This record gives sequence, structure tokens and C-alpha cells, in this order.
Amino acid sequence: MDIHEYQAKDILARFGVPVPRGGLAYSPEQAGYRARELGGEAWVVKAQIHSGGRGEAGGVKLCRSEDQVRDYAATLFGHRLITKQTGARGKDVYRVWVEGACDIAQELYLGFVLDRKSERIMIVASAQGGMEIEDLAQDQPEALVRMIIDPAVGLVDYQARELAFRLGLEGGQIAQMVTVLQACHRAYSELDAMMVEINPLVITGSGDLVALDAKMSFDTNALYRRPDVAALRDPSQEDPREAMAADHGLAYVGLDGDIGCIINGAGLAMATMDMIKLSGGEPANFLDIGGGASPERVCQAFRTVLSDANVSVILVNIFAGINRCDWIANGVVQAYKEVGLTLPVVVRLAGTNVAEGQAILRGSGLPITATDTLAEAAEAAVAARPHPVAA
Ligand code: GDP
Ligand code: MN
Repeated sequence: MDIHEYQAKDILARFGVPVPRGGLAYSPEQAGYRARELGGEAWVVKAQIHSGGRGEAGGVKLCRSEDQVRDYAATLFGHRLITKQTGARGKDVYRVWVEGACDIAQELYLGFVLDRKSERIMIVASAQGGMEIEDLAQDQPEALVRMIIDPAVGLVDYQARELAFRLGLEGGQIAQMVTVLQACHRAYSELDAMMVEINPLVITGSGDLVALDAKMSFDTNALYRRPDVAALRDPSQEDPREAMAADHGLAYVGLDGDIGCIINGAGLAMATMDMIKLSGGEPANFLDIGGGASPERVCQAFRTVLSDANVSVILVNIFAGINRCDWIANGVVQAYKEVGLTLPVVVRLAGTNVAEGQAILRGSGLPITATDTLAEAAEAAVAARPHPVAA
């Protein structure tokens, strides 16, 4: 789960990372008021969306008067920002962060990520911040410093100091960097984060370290024990299809194709998506309805898949181990009627009570194509599309 920049700064500040003073606004008037409240002569107005790359997309602006703050904020509210990271759908701006402008001498990059290879938290840092880490890794891989944290001892002081030296920091900046690193590491591990990124971490004109931007992402599977973090969720920033699925406990990932998928088991879902592609089609989504798929759950899965306007055919693929094919078949028939379905539906059932399940589908009188194998199901779904999209 991602959170906004201002929320990440608030968290990191509580752990000891220096951040600029700022205020949140939900309207242009409030943004102007925030500037007055903060005082000073220049402010940076920043669109709060779950994405980086806002600077380049026009979502970050230096303003020199309260009027400018208000006017610029007015252009952001309700506007959809499309950045390198959002994709074509973009993200809507409903919140704006106003902070006192900072005098920048140097921009550094600092990130904490989970390194799957070593199964440890890894620090990635660079004396060349400001640009996206992906671009930096591509263009100047030698400018990146990496450090693995041993979970048995945590991030030890000498290791943090070594990183500061390798970034070329001097004097009091070294102690400041140690504080920032320790704070980020504690926030990361104590809150079950997946990623902490400060880009840029700046050295100000007076030589101090300040986090000008912050990004945090959390392990969704750990949110049950982090209610304060879970409360920071902002559904306006999520893919509406995925938000709806999450609310119903379905594992759903929206994709760009037109074949809606309802499948039990993540592995089977992956295999089905491969099979659809092999047959010349494009899946509209990944959806795992889980083990005990009740008729209510099947109905909700249909609703979720149908909330995507691109879907032109639905493919249901269930292997009933714990489940029973006749239950699933009843669920499909019930969903077909309740949801008022008009699209073609292809169902492949296998496992417990498969004969009974298929008999229910065939006896329902509904235009449901029942198939025996996964390959047949994928081909039938591709063939059933009313308006096949060009591959
Ligand atoms: P991002 O583009 O979404 O990553 O947004 P950032 O918060 O990183 O802002 C983009 C860029 O705006 C930064 O790299 C800075 O160069 C610049 N910027 C942000 N805040 C300030 C500020 O207070 N003063 C100045 N001069 N530049 C700023
Ligand atoms: Mn940034």
C-alpha cells in the first residue's frame, strides 16, 4: 500500500528525519492560507498523488506570493496528473501540500528496499539525487552505493558512517546522515514498510540535510497489525477496479485486455493468463477468488470483473479441491442471473463433483460454454469475443 508524500514525511519526521515545515490543503483558499501561516517569501506547492515524477509533469511549483500559491493550487485541484509512473490513466489531485521553499546546494538519493536475493533490507544511495532511481541505475550505475543490513544487529553506526563517507559527506553532515539512516531503518522495520525513498535528500545552502520528498510503501499483508498505517489508505489513488476487489477480499490486478478472468488459486490464474495469450487473447485482469468460493463470492467476483468496461467475455476456471464443482456451477448460474449478465461466459471446471457441476451449467439454459480443459477454455474465450482487439 502506498501513501502520500506528506504522510511519509510526517512518519519519517516522527522517527527523526528533518523535513521542511508544511501544511496540507484541500482547496486553493486553504493552500493560500497555509502559505500565510508558514510565513516566508517562497513556497513550494506540491500535488499529492501516489506517484513520483510530479516535478516533470507539472505537479510541483515554486511560488513567490500567496496569490501565486492559490492560483497554482487552483490549477491542480480536480486535475488529473499523468506522470511517467502513473500510466495513461493518471491520478486525480484532491490534496495539495504547501511547504516553505528550501535553498538547495546538492540533491542526494536515499532508498530502503527489500532485497529479495539476500532476503534483507538494502540501502541504495547516491550523491546524485533528483532524478529517478531507474534512470540513475541505467545511466550511472557506478554512482549508486548499496549496503545490506544484517537483521541480527540492525543498522550499526559504523556502517551508517561508512555510507555517509562514500557519499562524500563532511563534518556535521556525517552525524546528520547517521540520524537519517537510523530513522529510516527504524520506520521501515517497525512499521512493516516495503520501501522508503527520500529523493531528493538535500544538502541546504547552510550545509544541513533535509528530506525534500518522501515516499513510503507498506506490506499489505501486515496492515492488520498496523491500524495507524492502514488508516492512511487513500482509495482515490487506487485503480477503482482494484479498490473494489480489495474491499471484498479478492486478489485482483487490473490489466489492459478484454477477457475477464475468475479463477481460484494464484498459480492457476497465472497459467490461465498464459493460456489466453497463447490463444491470441489478452486478459483484462488477474483474479484469484481463493479456496472456499461461495456463490456470494462468485457473484462479487463477477461484479468486480464487470466493473472494467473493456471486458467483453468472461472466463471462469476453477479447480475444485477443497471446493466442489457443483457449488461453483450454482454460483455461476446465480451470478449470471443476479448480475444481469449479457456477455458470453466460458467455464472450465475440474476436480470434485465435476460431472454434477457441468450438468448444472448445461441444464441452466444459459448461454454458458462449458469446457473440459484449460486450453479449450482459453480458445473458446478468445473465439467468443464480440469485438476482438488487435493483438
Ligand atoms: P517528484 O518529481 O514527484 O519526485 O517530486 P519532488 O518532491 O522530488 O520534487 C521535484 C523537484 O522539485 C525536486 O527534485 C527539487 O529539485 C524541486 N523542489 C522540491 N522542493 C523544492 C524546494 O523547496 N526548493 C527548490 N528550489 N526546489 C524544490
Ligand atoms: Mn522526488
